[in-house]
Amino acid sequence: MDDAGYMNYKRFDNKVVVRIDKGEEIVDALKTICKKLDIKLGSIVGIGAADKVTIGLLNTKTKKYQSKEFTGDHEIAPLIGNITLMNGEVYLHLHVTICNVEHKALGGHLTSAVVSAMFEGIIDIIEGQVTREYNDEVGLNLLKL
Ligand code: FE
Repeated sequence: MDDAGYMNYKRFDNKVVVRIDKGEEIVDALKTICKKLDIKLGSIVGIGAADKVTIGLLNTKTKKYQSKEFTGDHEIAPLIGNITLMNGEVYLHLHVTICNVEHKALGGHLTSAVVSAMFEGIIDIIEGQVTREYNDEVGLNLLKL
């Protein structure tokens, strides 16, 4: 991927202001920005609009995510998540609330979201790094602290 014309970011000390444009997938774009800026730990908050959103919910018995795709106009209100590392790679853990045409909210673990108008967010960088480790008991990649 290259960053011409589909996303932009500007860094101010430990914060990065991000814009992701129409037609782009948010999780991929955020991961690309983290890689480019070598962000290993931090948080992200963002708002915007998306028209193809895949959201997961962990089934704690099977330890598997059940996923659902939502299409049509939705507001991202908001996206929030953590940036860490796993196996040396950027690892994003994002959750999202989206609102539909009836202003009803639904949400969950964010797998992917395609921007329908725009997305804007702020990354808060923490100097340091935290990695993750799979925990068999809960079926999730837990923070290794
Ligand atoms: Fe999650």
